[in-house]
Formats: sequence, structure tokens, C-alpha cells
Amino acid sequence: MNYFLLVLLIFIQQMVIPQTIAIKCGELIDGKSDQPQLNKAIIIEGNLIKEITDFSAIPRNATIIDMSNKTVLPGLIDCHTHVLLQGDVTAEEYDPQILKESIPYRTLRGSVSCQIALMNGFTTIRDLETEGAMYADVDLKKAINNAVIPGPRMFVSTRAINTTGHYSLSNYEYSWELHMPKGIQEITGADEARRAVREQISYGADWIKIYADRGYYRTPDSSFRSRPNFTIEEIEAVADETIRSGKFLAAHAVTRDGILYSLNAGARSIEHGFGMDEECMDLMIKKNAYWCPTATVIDYVAEGRAKEGNPINAQMLRSLPGIFKKALQKGVKIAFGTDAGGFDWSKIPQSREFSYYVQWGMTAMQAIKSATSVAAELLNKSGQIGEISKGAMADIIAIDGDPIQDIKRLEKVVFVMKDGKIYKN
Ligand SMILES: [Zn+2]
Repeated sequence: MNYFLLVLLIFIQQMVIPQTIAIKCGELIDGKSDQPQLNKAIIIEGNLIKEITDFSAIPRNATIIDMSNKTVLPGLIDCHTHVLLQGDVTAEEYDPQILKESIPYRTLRGSVSCQIALMNGFTTIRDLETEGAMYADVDLKKAINNAVIPGPRMFVSTRAINTTGHYSLSNYEYSWELHMPKGIQEITGADEARRAVREQISYGADWIKIYADRGYYRTPDSSFRSRPNFTIEEIEAVADETIRSGKFLAAHAVTRDGILYSLNAGARSIEHGFGMDEECMDLMIKKNAYWCPTATVIDYVAEGRAKEGNPINAQMLRSLPGIFKKALQKGVKIAFGTDAGGFDWSKIPQSREFSYYVQWGMTAMQAIKSATSVAAELLNKSGQIGEISKGAMADIIAIDGDPIQDIKRLEKVVFVMKDGKIYKN
């Protein structure tokens, strides 16, 4: 046969017949079942999981990846990240990133954050705003999807929305003669709110993020309160425009003042919620909304902010275990979210978040589900990601040891596959 014809035929065969891979799992945690399974094989064709079988049923033509001495899990999902941010305990850290780093420079750093997330085992992230880097998250997502850089599957929210004067960089800390750049898109009034949502979606936002409250404080009876940023008319306009466009709304809301507003408007997720009360939990359940606790970040910033004279985060951190336990007991849906970027990507693995959940009352399996099947539900991607099952995307990780015995094992991921492609082995 003509040599070139042969090469062509092999090439066509490779294109038409996807390679079959079999991952032999010592222990398999599929993201949905309550119990791990032993000695199962995941059969992968192309970027999809074809089936889960016994070792004896592995197809002969399959390339074997032997993880029979490891625990295999679905690729993890972090529902709250900022790949374009590199730590912000206080304005000392935040402001220079916006003032001194160009958006191309921040995007280069962001590409490293994306790589870190993937190598940590997070094959999907919901990135909740660029902190002044405009639509650079859409570019990072595009670069990942086009295989220009390695990174997780991204759901992006672009610029986020807050009301005029209520977000960093704060006007009063700089000369009033200067127009300070803002970490968000500012709006005043329902029409501007609708315009911002429409603009962000037109540039590629998958989610809309709002900052629902600010100015957190504690009352004499020890409850946490804050100031809502939006008028009802504004927040309803944001939510209506978002939902009518088939998108979802994520609300940064720390106390009841922001949480109840956001839930009543139609938010699908409450971010942080450190100061929530039982009424908030009940409404979250009634509205079928999710809570992203971001425990790692509040622990990260509490001490530094207290030293600067702002003890509220430290106070919230102290009461958070009780709030978490109560929410768990009531049945609030808790989706894993870290706020990575709020802490330094290179210093703390996102999987640190699991330890807080387990310390505060979740079983290890519940914690794992929060970052797999429950997170996928929040993203409206059940059956596609966050589970190892027939037809799901081949997003798979492996670790040494048993995370059910020691959740910290998840901080050392040894194998990462995303979309059927191996990134770490
Ligand atoms: Zn955040």
C-alpha cells in the first residue's frame, strides 16, 4: 500500500474510533453513592465515561491506567473562585492589583491560577467575577477550551454588579480628583441594572454575580447585620433580566439583610452567608437555593483584617461552625466554594475547604458530594460533571489513601483527567 495512504488510513481510524481507556480503581467514590465501591474499572471513550465494570469485563483493546492502589473520584468542582485575583486580606493587597497590574498581566497570572486549580484536582470552577479585569475570564475560558493553556472547565460571571459607590476601590481613600477604577460594574437604578446584565451576558457571562450587602456589624444581641446595596427595584431588575436570559444569579450576601433580599429576588446561590440566621436557612430551603460557605477565605482574612481594626470577620468565623451545623441539620444545600483568589492560589490548596466542613459536622462523604454531585446540581450540570457514571464527562482524579478516613488526603491529588485527557499522573 502506498505509504501516504496508510498514514491517512491510520489517521482516519484514530479520528473515527475514539481510544478506549480503562481506569482500574482500588476504591471508587462516584460522587453520588453513599458508599465507595471496590475493584471497579471506569471505561472511557473519547471524553465520556462509557461504563463502570468489574476488572474482568475490561475490553481487550483498552489502554489500562492502573489506579488499583488508589482512591478514584470525580473531578472536583469549586463553585466560588477568582482566578484573576491573587489574595486580598486588606486593601493593601487588593488595590495594587487593580492599580499597578494591567489586565494582560493579571490574565497571565490568572492562567497560572487556572493551572493550579486543575492540578489541585478541580476540573470545574465557577469563577465569580474578575475584580476589575473586565472580561478576561471569558478569554481564559476560551484559551482553556481551545487547549492554549491547561485549566478547569469554567463557568464565568465576568464583571459582577454592585451599586454606585459601594465597592473597591473606595473613593474616599484616594484623591477625589481621580476617578478610581472599580472591581465591579456600578449601577444606579433598574434600567442600569438591566443594561449591566445584558452587557455582561453579551460578552460571555454564564452567571451574573451581585454584591448584595456591605458594612457588616454586630448588634448588642450578637446577631450580624449589614446594609443592603440594592433597592428592591434594582435587585429585582437584575434577577429578572438574568433569569429571563436563561442564566443564574449568584449573590454575595453575608447577613440576613442581603440574603433575604437576594433569595426573594431569585438568587440561586448565596455566597459566604457567614452571618445568616435561621430565617435565611428556611428561605434558602424553600427557594431551593444553595449556600457556598467559603470557609477557607474567612479564616484566611480574619486575623489580618482584625489587626487593621476590623474584627467582624474574626467574630463571624467564631460563630460560623454553629451556623454551619444548624444549616446542615435543617437540610440547606451546601455547595463547595472556597473563594480562592481571595486567598493566595499558590499557598493554600482549595481542598483545605473540606476540612472545615468535616470539622463542622459533615461526614467526609457529604463533604465530597458538596464538591461533586451537589456542586453539579448548583451549576445545572447533573449527570455531566461531578459524578462517575455512564455518559458523564471523563473528569476523574485519584489520591493515595482513603479520604473517608482522612479528608486531608484530598489536598494531595496524584492523578487528574479532564474531558478524557490526562493532565497529571
Ligand atoms: Zn469571592
